[in-house]
Order: sequence, then structure tokens, then C-alpha cells
Amino acid sequence: MPPSRYGVNEESKSIWVYLEQEEGILENVSLEMLSKGREMADLLKWKLVGLLLGSGVGPLALEAIARGADEVRVADHPLLAQFTIEGHGLVVFDAVMQGKPSIFLLGATLNGRDLAGRLAVRFRTGLNADCTNLHMDEKDGLLVSEVSGFGGGVVAMIEMHNHRPQMATVRPGVFEMREPDITRKGDIINIPVELKPEQIKTRILERVRSGVVDLTRVPVLVVGGRGVNGDFVILKKLADLLGGDVGATRPPVDAGHIERERQIGQTGVVSSPKVALCCGLSGAFHLLVGIEKADVVVSINTDPDAPIFEFSDYYIVGDVGQYLPALIQTLQSQREASHA
Ligand SMILES: Cc1cc2nc3c(=O)[nH]c(=O)nc-3n(C[C@H](O)[C@H](O)[C@H](O)COP(=O)(O)OP(=O)(O)OC[C@H]3O[C@@H](n4cnc5c(N)ncnc54)[C@H](O)[C@@H]3O)c2cc1C
Repeated sequence: MPPSRYGVNEESKSIWVYLEQEEGILENVSLEMLSKGREMADLLKWKLVGLLLGSGVGPLALEAIARGADEVRVADHPLLAQFTIEGHGLVVFDAVMQGKPSIFLLGATLNGRDLAGRLAVRFRTGLNADCTNLHMDEKDGLLVSEVSGFGGGVVAMIEMHNHRPQMATVRPGVFEMREPDITRKGDIINIPVELKPEQIKTRILERVRSGVVDLTRVPVLVVGGRGVNGDFVILKKLADLLGGDVGATRPPVDAGHIERERQIGQTGVVSSPKVALCCGLSGAFHLLVGIEKADVVVSINTDPDAPIFEFSDYYIVGDVGQYLPALIQTLQSQREASHA
């Protein structure tokens, strides 16, 4: 691989986090990376820097500082109001080349992935994509990125010795979000932006929002597997009664019984609910990745040897068709009694 645009000798001892925002709200994954970044920066006494792009996004810089950043570099320009790969790509490239961070983290979101892939090529560096954990090697100051590989059978620990920045995209939901501390102080640096409309080839004609589903932090997650036979109506009823939402394993998603954005697991969402209620699913490794952060796991399965039971705090050997209606009826009666 040819040398990167800047080398190890030129790097600044800093961790940069790309602060993705949508309509003036920072994405959760950006806040999660700030928390993890703070922890790693403290270990090595490095600086944690947020890189924020948009139009009229100044107030978000303060939020990023409250969430752990030492410094926020802000590129504010009307042509950055909407994400375009050309506009954001140019500005982020210049900012990183100017600051030469040792590490540059982005969320593994649609835009984060798009940006990271193109920038890694331009920096001539590597990209550890879709990481499920990160830590710093204290001895040599290298980033260790954990990526699951070979269909989830192994977790690869990847280090980048000679190329900079050490880039990684991080799966939403894998890190805790620290509470904001409004007393924290930090620097806000405005980056001059010289974008011209003709540099942006993308024309946004219309923005269509699909039903926004965020299962990463739902308090109760009711997950349906192949064993629920496509009946997600009953799961939704149960989730509503429990103040939660519905997820699914891959087979019902592939069969079209439920939207793909509700798939939980290695190739879906990583969720950290207080309670995960697993209904009619076997407990394949690929699914477990998505619920391993749950505080309590409860499962229902007809097979007494189902692997999910080994992962569960409580389980019922039984038919979802029998237990779920009974559970719903009990919850409804309790609710009616408490309102009487
Ligand atoms: C690279 C790769 C990535 C993948 N990523 C994901 C991912 O992100 N998420 C994901 O979910 N999968 C993923 N998979 C697929 C994964 O390996 C499993 O095949 C999948 O999770 C199985 O789904 P399931 O448990 O619903 O189905 P099954 O394994 O078929 O299990 C169904 C379970 O339901 C039980 N059951 C049947 N009827 C009833 C009933 N009436 N009441 C109660 N229990 C009943 C059965 O005993 C069985 O245990 C991936 C696979 C690969 C190769």
C-alpha cells in the first residue's frame, strides 16, 4: 500500500470524531463516540476533537463539549445544510489534512459510511469498518478496532501501524452515552469554507423520511423470530403494553413480515434495552450480538435445548401462540385494575 498523505511522524496526538447531525440534532452515535473517545483520550492524555459541519450548527458545538470534546472545529456554510458527499467530502478532507489527527472516527450510518470509504481512499489509509468496540493500546498509542468477521465467527482486532489517520466507523448503539456536563470548557474553532455550488453535483429534489425507528435505546425490546410465524401484530401489542418496541431476527425480515430497519443483530441493530423479550428465536450468534447489552433477557421457545436459553436470565419452554396472548391479557387486566 502506498504511503498515506500524512505519516505517523506528522500526526497530532488527537482523536477526531465526525459529529453527524440531522436538522440541528446530533446523531446518537456521534455522542456515543464522544464518550468512548473521551475515555481513550484520557488514557493517553490526548486531545478529543469534534468535527461539525452544517449550516447554523454553532449551538451543537457547545453540546459536543458538554459531552466530552476538548475542541470542536465547525464548518458552517449554507452549502453544508444538507449532506452531500461532494460538499462534506471536500470540507472534511481539508479539515483533517489541516489537523492531521492520529485517529478519525465516524458513525457507521448511511452518510458516515459513504464519507469514510471515500475519504480513506483519498487519505490513502485503511478503514476499519463497522467496529463493535475500540480501545487504545497504551504502550504504543495505537487504536485497536474490533470487527466481527467470517460471518461473525471471529472477532478481529485490527491495528494500523504506518498509515494515518487511523480510521474507523463505529456501529450505533455499541457505546454508552455520557451525560452532558454543561460546566465543561472547550475551544470552538471556525473553519473557513470556500465551497462553490458547481462543486456539488448532487441535487436534492425531495427528502422523504421513512418511519423513524430507533431500537438502539428502547427500554423494552420484543424480538420475534421465525417461530412467531410472521405474527408481529401480537408482538406489537405486547411491546406497546410494556412501553417498548418490536425487533426481529433475519428470517422474518427476509420473508417480508417486518421492515429491515427492525432487524436485530450483527447485520442489523445493536440494542441496549433494559429487557429483551425473545419470542420464537433460536439464539444464533449473529442475533446475540444485537442483544448482548440487554440488562435482562427473557425468552420463550418450544425447544428445551434452544441455545437462547443459555443466554437468558428467565425462560419459558413453550409455544408463543399460547403464552403471548395470555401475557397480553394479564397486562391488560392489570392496567384496567390500576385505572379502576
Ligand atoms: C453473515 C451473517 C449475518 C447474519 N446476521 C444476522 C442478524 O443480524 N440478525 C439475525 O437475526 N440473524 C442473522 N443471521 C442469520 C442467523 O445466523 C440465524 O439464521 C437467524 O438469527 C435465525 O433466526 P431465528 O432464530 O428466528 O430462526 P431459527 O433459527 O429457525 O429459530 C426459530 C426458533 O423458533 C422456535 N419456535 C418455533 N415455533 C415456535 C413457537 N410456536 N413458539 C416458540 N418457539 C418456537 C424454534 O424452536 C427455534 O428455536 C446472519 C447470518 C449470517 C451468515
